[in-house]
Amino acid sequence: MWTLKKLVFRCAHLAMGFALKRIKVPTPDLISGPGSVHQLSDAIQKTTATNLLLVTDKGISNIGLADNLLQDLNNTNLGCTVFDEVQPNPSIDNVEAGLQVYLAEKCDGIVAFGGGSAMDCAKLIGARATNPDKSVLDMSGSFKVTNTLPPLFAVPTTAGTGSECTLAAVITNPEKREKFAIASDKIVPAYAVLDPELMVSLPPNITAHTGMDALTHAIEAYIGKAGSPFTNENAERAIRIIFENLESVFKDGTDLSKRNDLAYASYCAGLAFTRALVGYVHAIAHNLGGLYGVPHGLANAIVLPYILDFSRDHCEEKLARLAVVGGLGRQTESSRDLSLKFIEKVRSMNENMGIPSQVTEMQPSDIPLIARRALAEGNPGYPVPRLMNQAQCEALLHQMVKR
Ligand code: NAD
Repeated sequence: MWTLKKLVFRCAHLAMGFALKRIKVPTPDLISGPGSVHQLSDAIQKTTATNLLLVTDKGISNIGLADNLLQDLNNTNLGCTVFDEVQPNPSIDNVEAGLQVYLAEKCDGIVAFGGGSAMDCAKLIGARATNPDKSVLDMSGSFKVTNTLPPLFAVPTTAGTGSECTLAAVITNPEKREKFAIASDKIVPAYAVLDPELMVSLPPNITAHTGMDALTHAIEAYIGKAGSPFTNENAERAIRIIFENLESVFKDGTDLSKRNDLAYASYCAGLAFTRALVGYVHAIAHNLGGLYGVPHGLANAIVLPYILDFSRDHCEEKLARLAVVGGLGRQTESSRDLSLKFIEKVRSMNENMGIPSQVTEMQPSDIPLIARRALAEGNPGYPVPRLMNQAQCEALLHQMVKR
C-alpha cells in the first residue's frame, strides 16, 4: 500500500515540477542597502497609492521602528493609517481586523512592515480587499486569489521568511489551531525594501530563529525534486551567506554589512523556495506553530537536523555540494562524509545559538495528529527527496519530545 502511495506521490511531484518551471512568478522591484527605507515614499509616489495602511505588530510599533518611514510619508503628503494588531503566527481574525481598518480609512495601498507575520497578514488584507467575495479560508491552497491586490510594499524587519518576494502567506485558523498556506502570484509584493538598519534592533534569539528559517528555505528548495538552475543558484548563495554570517550576527547584531548580507540571503532563499517549494521541515513546523504557537523559525531550526538525517541517503550528492559551497570541505572528499559534515554544521549552529534539539511544548498524545496533519500538507504537496509515512513521522516526532 505504501509503495503504491509513493508511486502516486512521485507522479504528482513530476507534474508539479513540470508546472513550477513554467509558472511565471513576479519578482518585486528591489530597494536595498542601509537607509534604503527612505527611498520608499518616492517609490510609492510612482504608483496609484495615495492613502496607505501600514500593517505591523505591537513589538515593532512600541520601539518606533516605522517612525522614520511614517515621517517620510507625511512629508510627501501620502496618507497613512497604522494597523499594529498583527500577532505572531497571524490569525484569520488579524486579517479581518486589518481589513476593517483598510475599508474604514478608504485606503488604496498597503505597506507590510515587519517580519513574516506582518507581511503575510498584509498580503491577505490586500487579497480580501480586492477579492471581497472570498473568505480567507476560501483562498486556502493554490491560485485562489484571482484579483490583483492594491499596490503592496514589503519592508521586512527580520531576515528569515522571504515573504517580501514569495507568492505565499501562512495564516492560523484559531478554531482548529492549524496553520495553512495561501499561494498565488497575485500576492507577491510590488516592491521589497531590504534595509539592514531596520534589523539592528532584532534580539539575538529572533536573529537566530529567523536566520535558521531562511537556511531551511534554501536547503529544502535545494534538496527537493523541483529545483532549477535559478532556484539552486539562489539557494546556494543564501546558504553560503548564512553559514558565513549568522552566528557572528547572533553574537553582535550591530554589524550593518553582515545584517545587509543576511537580509539578501533571506530574499534569495525566498526566491528559491517560492519556485521549488519546501519540505517536511515546514510541514511539521507549521503544526508546531498552529498547535502550540512555537515561533516559525525556531520550529524549523529544531526540526531541520532530524529531517536531514532522515533524508540524507536520498540527497547525499546535493548535501555534499552544499557542504562544499558552504566551505565545509573539498570536492575530493566522499559525498557521504561531506553530507554528514553539512548536517553536523546545522546542528552546531543550533547549539551555538542556544536553539534546543527538542520541542518543550510537544505532548506525546498529540503526535499522531501532528504527523497526520504534517503528512496531509507534505504528501504530495512538497517534492521531498525521501517520502515519509505516518509511522516514520511519528517515530521522528517522538525523538523531539522534551523529556
Ligand atoms: P514575526 O513576524 O512573527 O516576528 C517575530 C517577533 O519579532 C515579533 O514579536 C516582532 O515584533 C519582532 N520583530 C520583528 N522585527 C523586529 C525588529 N527589527 N526589531 C525588534 N523586534 C522585531 O517573525 P518571522 O519569523 O519574521 O515571521 C514568522 C511568520 O512568517 C510565521 O507565521 C510563518 O509561518 C510566516 N512565514 C511566511 C513565509 C511566506 O513566504 N509568506 C515564509 C516563511 C514563514
